[in-house]
Amino acid sequence: MSIKKLPRLTIVVPCYNEEAVLPSSSKTLGKILTKLIANQQVTTDSKILFVDDGSHDRTWEIIQDLQSENALFTGLKFSRNYGQEVALMAGLKTAAPFSDLTVTIDADLQDNPYLIPTMVQQAADGFDIVYGVRNDRSTDTWFKRTTAERFYWLMNKIGVHLIPNHADFRMMSHRAVEALLEYHESDPFIRGIVPQLGFPSTKLFYKRQPRKAGVSKYPLSKMLKLALDGVFSFSLAPIRAVLYAGSAISIASVVAFLWLGIQALRGVALSGFDPVMASLWFLGGAQLIALSIVGEYVGRTFKQSKHRPEFIIQTDTYSNEFVHQMDEE
Ligand code: UDP
Ligand code: MG
Repeated sequence: MSIKKLPRLTIVVPCYNEEAVLPSSSKTLGKILTKLIANQQVTTDSKILFVDDGSHDRTWEIIQDLQSENALFTGLKFSRNYGQEVALMAGLKTAAPFSDLTVTIDADLQDNPYLIPTMVQQAADGFDIVYGVRNDRSTDTWFKRTTAERFYWLMNKIGVHLIPNHADFRMMSHRAVEALLEYHESDPFIRGIVPQLGFPSTKLFYKRQPRKAGVSKYPLSKMLKLALDGVFSFSLAPIRAVLYAGSAISIASVVAFLWLGIQALRGVALSGFDPVMASLWFLGGAQLIALSIVGEYVGRTFKQSKHRPEFIIQTDTYSNEFVHQMDEE
């Protein structure tokens, strides 16, 4: 009989000003992981890794208290706020050398954490990636639901095939995480990258729950930034749209000039200040939009070309623990 090696699991939880929800979320996640360990589905040194994304509230204190109470909990603290996607990349990068499986989940547990054992089972069945998919968003606000729907529709239209209603709740095998970490993007859009990795994958569906405590850490500005990261780092469609629009306007203006020329030859008196002003404003606006789209791509290339560190970690108790363990061995 062959003895199958148990996987070491790390659950990565990005946290930004989550003092209101962390005490209850950590309890739930702790219970789930304890049960997984007791059922011998994962190793006893599996962990929950909280990534404090530069919080200004008591988030880090709470994480430290949790660590001192229970060895299941560990933490990583950024030097400042970098955003959820960067926090996830940092968590995965830190966890990768010591983990066979990783699960990423939001701190507010709006995504069903009770699916984690099924994800682990699906990894044992040979899947490298398990996507958590929200098939019922009735608890989201109308605004959030509609903007999300439009966003997935637009992305699909411009050729970026996201998994509809999948955000950042997913399980990944070690090799899938290693592949993801090969993408050194300055503004990572992980849900766009992961489906490009390949590997056997499957989906798990669930109803999205309302936030248990605290408020959303995604104001409109952050939602917009995430959406723009998705569009501009995965598609050249906007710049092509500018090309098509520019060509259409040029063709139309040639036609208009020809028509005006014919009218002049026929002796029709031409006048009209308003149409000239209108077309000037129109073209001025179109040029500004076109410039800003080009600027967006140039800006991204500029940012990427500087090879700045993707994030700066202030404290890392997770790796310390495993490195000590390895030293002792
Ligand atoms: N988050 C983060 N950094 C940020 C914003 C959010 O790490 O700058 C985390 C946040 O703590 C939570 C997750 O990202 O764990 C999702 O945020 P939230 O639940 O507020 O988003 P919503 O569900 O409202 O879209
Ligand atoms: Mg949330």
